[in-house]
Amino acid sequence: MEENEELAPHIEDINRALNEKLSEEQIEEELRTYTDRYGVPLGSAKRSIVKKYEGDPQDLYVSTEKAIDDIGGDEQGLNLKCRIVSINEKEIEVDDEPKQIWYGILGDDTGTIPFTLWEAKPIELEKGDTVKIENAYANTWNDEPQVNIGSKASVKEIENDEVPQFERETQKLDLADIRENMQNLDVTARVTSIERKMVNTQDDEEKELFSGIMADETGKAQFSAWHDFGMEEGDVLRVKGGYVRSWRGIPQYSFDETAEVEFLDDEELPPAEELDEVSVYSISDLAKRGGAVDAIVDAVMIDIKSGSGLIFRCPECRRVVQKGACRVHGKVDGEADLRVKGILDDGTGALTVIINRELTEDILGYDLEEAMEKAKDEMNQSVIQDALEEKLIAQPLRVKGNITSDEYGLMLVADEVEYKTIDVEEEARKMLDEVRV
Ligand SMILES: [Zn+2]
Repeated sequence: MEENEELAPHIEDINRALNEKLSEEQIEEELRTYTDRYGVPLGSAKRSIVKKYEGDPQDLYVSTEKAIDDIGGDEQGLNLKCRIVSINEKEIEVDDEPKQIWYGILGDDTGTIPFTLWEAKPIELEKGDTVKIENAYANTWNDEPQVNIGSKASVKEIENDEVPQFERETQKLDLADIRENMQNLDVTARVTSIERKMVNTQDDEEKELFSGIMADETGKAQFSAWHDFGMEEGDVLRVKGGYVRSWRGIPQYSFDETAEVEFLDDEELPPAEELDEVSVYSISDLAKRGGAVDAIVDAVMIDIKSGSGLIFRCPECRRVVQKGACRVHGKVDGEADLRVKGILDDGTGALTVIINRELTEDILGYDLEEAMEKAKDEMNQSVIQDALEEKLIAQPLRVKGNITSDEYGLMLVADEVEYKTIDVEEEARKMLDEVRV
C-alpha cells in the first residue's frame, strides 16, 4: 500500500470533493479498505468513495495514474505508468523553424495508445523502456484518443516490472475464416505479392502502405500493412495483432506498427504455386465469407444474361448503350466490346460471373472484329450471344478471379476461365472401384 505521505494528497482531494463531509481518518480508513482489502486501484477507489458519499468524482483533481484503456478524450493532468511500445522521430515546422518531435505508441496491461512528445526528449527514450509520465494531456485525433507530452510534462524512467506486460489476446485463424471487423488475429501466411505505395489518409497526410496478397493452406486474402516491416514476396510470416477491414465484401487483413510480425522458416508453408491450388471455394462458403481475392470456383454455367456477346459501351462512362443511348449521357456513338454476364452454379449456390473481352474472344475462337463482321452479315447483334450460349451453357468451368459482394449477391470478375473436362477414363475407374467394394 502507499505510504502515508503519498496517500495524503488523495485524502485531501476526496475531502475537498465531499465538502468535508467525512473526517480525514474516515476517508483514510475507507481508502485503505478499498485498496488494501479489495485491491481496487487508487484512482477507482477515490471515485467510488466520492460517489458513495454522494459527491461528484469530477471534483477530484489530484490525478492518479490512469490506465491507458480509461483515457477517453480531452484530459489534463494525465499521469501514466507505461511502456514505450514504439518511438519514432519526425521533423515538423513551427513558425517556419524546423522542430524535432517524437511519436509512437504507449502501452500498459490494459491497452495501447498513440503519443506525441512535443518537446526535446527529457531522457533518452527507447522502445521497451518503462516510464512514468506526469502532467501530460490527452486529446482526440482522427476519432482516437492520443497522449500529448508537452512542455509542462515530465518523463522519468522506472523499473521494468512496474508495468505489467500487455498481453494481447489473439485469435489464431486460417485465412479462409477471416471476416469483416475481426480484431487481434494471429495469422500465418506466405506473401505471394507485395507492392509499396503512398496513400493519402483522411487527414490529407501521406502514408506508406504495403499491400498485396497472402496465402495459407486454406485460402488467400489481400493485406495492408501500414508500416514497413521489411516484408518481401515469398516471405512466410506470422502476423499477430492484425484486424480485418473489407472492401465490397472482400475481407482484407490489415496491420500497423502495433502488430507483431515474425519471419518464419520457408518450410512452414508449401510453396506459392501449391498454395495457389487451395483457393478453390464453394459458392456457399463465399457467401458466408462475403467475397475473396484471387479465388477459384468450379461450377456450371446455367444462364447467360442479356447484354452478353457483342455490346456497345458509352465512350464517356463505359456503361452499356441500349438503343444507341447511354443512361447518363444520352445519345452516343457506342464503342464495340465483347463480354459475358452469366450465372455460375456449383450445387451449393450461384453467383454472377463477368468475363471480359479477351477471355470472351478465347471462348468464341475469334476476335471482336470478326464478331462485328458476323453480326453485320446476319444483320443481328445477338448472334454472338447465341454462339456464347452454345459454348458455355451447361458446361463445367473453372473460373478464377476476385469475388465481391453487395446487396445483389456475389459477383466474380474472371481473370481466367477454363473448361473443366471430365476425365472419362478416371471417372470409369472410380466407378469400377466403387462397384468392387
Ligand atoms: Zn455514359
